Amino acid sequence: MCGVIGIWANDEVFHDLYQGLLSIQHRGQDAAGIITYDGKFHEKKGGGLVMDIFGQEEAAQLKGHIGIGHTRYPTVGGGGQEDAQPFMLNSPFGIVLAHNGNVVNYRQLKKELFEKHQRLLNSECDAEVILNIFAQELEEQRIKVITPENIFKAVAGVYRRVRGSYATVAYIAEQGLVAFRDPYGIKPLSFGRRKDGLLPSYAFASETVSLNLMGFDDIEHIEAGEAIFIDRNRQLHRRRIIKRKHTPCLFEWVYFARPDSVIDGVNVYKSRVNLGRLLAGEIKKKDLDIDVVVPVPDSARDAAIEIARRLKLKYSEALVKNRYIGRTFIMPAEAKRQSSVRQKLNPICSEIEGKKVLLVDDSIVRGNTSRAIVEMIRECGAEKVYFASYSPPLRYPCVYGIDMQTKTEFVARDADEKLVARRIGADEVIYQTLANLKKAIRMENPKLRYFCAACFDGQYPTGDVTPELLKAIEDERRLIQENQLELDIKKTK
Ligand code: SF4
Repeated sequence: MCGVIGIWANDEVFHDLYQGLLSIQHRGQDAAGIITYDGKFHEKKGGGLVMDIFGQEEAAQLKGHIGIGHTRYPTVGGGGQEDAQPFMLNSPFGIVLAHNGNVVNYRQLKKELFEKHQRLLNSECDAEVILNIFAQELEEQRIKVITPENIFKAVAGVYRRVRGSYATVAYIAEQGLVAFRDPYGIKPLSFGRRKDGLLPSYAFASETVSLNLMGFDDIEHIEAGEAIFIDRNRQLHRRRIIKRKHTPCLFEWVYFARPDSVIDGVNVYKSRVNLGRLLAGEIKKKDLDIDVVVPVPDSARDAAIEIARRLKLKYSEALVKNRYIGRTFIMPAEAKRQSSVRQKLNPICSEIEGKKVLLVDDSIVRGNTSRAIVEMIRECGAEKVYFASYSPPLRYPCVYGIDMQTKTEFVARDADEKLVARRIGADEVIYQTLANLKKAIRMENPKLRYFCAACFDGQYPTGDVTPELLKAIEDERRLIQENQLELDIKKTK
């Protein structure tokens, strides 16, 4: 999971990009980068949070009315600074590119680019693969001035060769701004206009909250398999190049996206309220004796309030989050995840003692975080601890850009609700059904017929995820985690 922004404005763009990236910091806290253009490219990339990387000096250095920004959580790649996006190529024209997603055939393409096309890729980041393929597809057209047709042809070439998910923004020097979503539209990408000059300013972003904060309106999402090109004269051209089933990632609404964003026409906040409403129905069927509903902050709050409202139960924010610790789900090493749970959440015991508590969370992944939370609540003297997840059991790895670990590490890999409850130490576990998860999203946009639900049901929408590929990806992830752990241990010595 990463966040991208591309902008072409009537004024300097650094401030907009900075604000925009802050608003999607939750999509990746590992590294960030900005490249702007004012006749030449200016670049700053680094490890860590946006506010730690960019300051006064960078504001003065990153000049231009055009820029691409990125916040990263690593999936392919080990998380080194050389892997931070955006990436840049000087030919043809000079291209800068960043994306959110995961290229499934990354290794094969990297090899092919070197052996067949003599292009050496210097990083372990899949954005460099997309950039080189896009550049090559443009180069082969031997053009001096790029037309929309050239862009659409090059993007069609990317679609033909690159598998997986990729919501991409790019700028081609003196030619225009480009954005495209993979054929299945797995990862989100929206764009908006701002009337602040003779020509409109344009921006593309992973989440609409960035567009809102940068003052862009008239917001639309980019379709699956669609490319948009803002040409030299700031004219917008768009084309749906390839028509496949649009299968957006269900987890965006469950957890990733901010509640004040709209993803593919679905207000994230409303979808979480719907999820609470539907889960309340499942909880009711269990006929549990509950005194208080407690959300695991922050993503579960909206659903938990709705559950308490529907079941006419007391609601209490009895778990307090320290906002200055990273999201546990997206911290690179498991060791960091485990140690950070207690630092991150602290219970208000007076709200819990002697009570039958219903904890509500967005999901249960490995179970480590859930187990630590249940333990904390019990230590406060809770009489019973029930655990409700407003998404279904996670059982399959995500190959489209989310580091959900390997299949064997999911707590629900081989378990029903009862066994998961035992594994996390809860009295009962209640899961959302997959049908209800889909229903909660469709209630806000009935046009969304299909979804990527692969981490829940193992059905990968791109149709090209073989057991061999899954194994190779899992092996690679395990290696990355081991390297990361080794680095962490070295750092603490
Ligand atoms: S597998 Fe899950 S997390 Fe990954 S894209 Fe699909 S729904 Fe989203």
